[in-house]
Amino acid sequence: MHAQLLTGSKAFCSCSTEFGREPNNNVCPVCLGMPGVLPVLNKKLVEFVVLMGLATNCTIAPHSVLARKNYFYPDLPKGYQISQYEEPICRDGFVEIEQPDGLRRKIGITRIHMEEDAGKSIHDRDMETLIDINRCGVPLMEIVSEPDIRSAREAYLYLAKIKQIVTYLRICDGNMEEGSLRCDANVSVRLKGTKELGTKTEVKNMNSLRYLEKALSYEIERQIDVLGSGERVMQETLLWDEKKGIVQPMRSKEEAHDYRYFPDPDLVPVDVDEAWIQKIRGLLPELPIEKHDRFIAEYGLPEYDAGVLTASRDLADYYEAALQSLQNKNQKSMKNVSNWVMGDVLRVARDQAVGIDAFPVPPSHIGELVNLIDNGIISGKIAKDVFECMIDEQKKPEEIVREKGLKQVTDTAEIGRIVKEVIDTHPSQVADYKAGKTKMIGFFVGQVMQRTKGKANPKIVNELIEKLLDGE
Ligand code: ZN
Ligand code: MN
Repeated sequence: MHAQLLTGSKAFCSCSTEFGREPNNNVCPVCLGMPGVLPVLNKKLVEFVVLMGLATNCTIAPHSVLARKNYFYPDLPKGYQISQYEEPICRDGFVEIEQPDGLRRKIGITRIHMEEDAGKSIHDRDMETLIDINRCGVPLMEIVSEPDIRSAREAYLYLAKIKQIVTYLRICDGNMEEGSLRCDANVSVRLKGTKELGTKTEVKNMNSLRYLEKALSYEIERQIDVLGSGERVMQETLLWDEKKGIVQPMRSKEEAHDYRYFPDPDLVPVDVDEAWIQKIRGLLPELPIEKHDRFIAEYGLPEYDAGVLTASRDLADYYEAALQSLQNKNQKSMKNVSNWVMGDVLRVARDQAVGIDAFPVPPSHIGELVNLIDNGIISGKIAKDVFECMIDEQKKPEEIVREKGLKQVTDTAEIGRIVKEVIDTHPSQVADYKAGKTKMIGFFVGQVMQRTKGKANPKIVNELIEKLLDGE
C-alpha cells in the first residue's frame, strides 16, 4: 500500500503538497529533477513513518538508507524515485483485523518505508498526453504486508484497518478516490492443506475498498479456473477494470523491472535515536482497537456500538463529547447517547454529506437531549422532533422544548380530564373493551396522545385509562 502523507511540504524540497492546484504550480528545480540540485529530507516525513511503525508494532531501525530506484517514465523527470530498499526505517510489525465472528487475527507487516511520489500523466486530451509534475516528490509511505491474508474479505478488512490507523494518526487523509491511499495486491491460490504458495499475480488500480474485494474475488476465481483446467498461472501484472468487472493484463514490457537500486549519494543516512523515538511515541493517540475495548469496558456498550463509534476518531470524539454533558452517567443513558449518534446523527451526516467534524449539532446538545428524556421532560417520540429542530435551528434542546411548548404533560388532573373526555365520546369502543377486547386500550391511548399532541406522559395515560375503564 502507498499512503500520501499530510506533511504540508514535499519529501525533499519545500514545495506545497496541496492537491488540486493548477498543473505544474507546486514545483521547483529539486522536484523537477534539474541537474545540480540537492534534495533535503523532510523531518516530518521521518516522524510520520516512525509514528506509523510504532502504531503497527514495528521495529524502528536506528539507521536506514535512502536509495535510488531507477526507471524511466515521462512523469518521473529525475529518471529515478528516491525510496528505501535494503534498509527500510520500519520492519517486522503487525496489525490485528477483526473478523465477522469477532475473532481477531494478526496480519504481519514486513516493512514500512519512506519514498516520494511520481507526477501524473494525463491522457486522452485530443490524442495528446500532458504531464503534471505537482505530485512529484509528494511524501509517500509504502507498507508491505506478509502473505498472511487468506481471502478477499480479509484483504478488505486489512485495508480498512490500515486506513483507520493512518486517519487516527492524522498522517494521511485516507481518500482512496483521490489516490491518497492506494494498494496493489499479490494473489495466489493453493490447495487446502498445502504449504507452498502458488504462482502470484499482481492486481493494480483498485481505488476503493469495495473494488478491492471485488477484484480479488474475481482474481481468486480466475486462478482456480486456470489451475482446474490443467493450465498454469502466469506471473503477471493485472489491472482491475471496474466497468467490465474483470482483470486485464498490463503490457508485459512494463513488468521486466530492473531498478538497479543503490544508496542515494545526495542524501545522508537517516539516524533515529532512542530519544527521538520516545518523543514520537509520545505523539501516539489511543489506537482504534484500544479505544474499541475501552468503550466496552468503560461505558458498557455492546461490541457493535463500540465498533461503529470508534470507526473514525472524529466520531469517537463526538460520542465522548456528548457524554460530557450527560447528567446520569449510567449504562442506559450512555447507550441512549450511542443510539442517537449511531442512528440520527450518522443518518443526517450521510444525507447532508458532511463529515462529523462539521456536523451542525454540537455533541453537547445530544447529551442534553438525552437528559431531557431521562428527566421525563419529553418523551422519546417528541425527542425525535426536537432533534430535527436542533439541526435546522442550532439551538439548545431545552430552548426548543420551551419555545415550542413541547414539555411533557405530567399533571394527572389534566390528563385525567382528557382521558374522561375520550372515554365519554367513544361509547361503542368502551363497550368493545368491556366485552373483553383489552386491545382497545391502544385506541384510547392513541386518542389521548392525539389530543395532547404526543405530550402526555405515556405511563400516566395508560394508568388512568385502565383505572377509568375498569372503574366504570
Ligand atoms: Zn519542489
Ligand atoms: Mn513504492
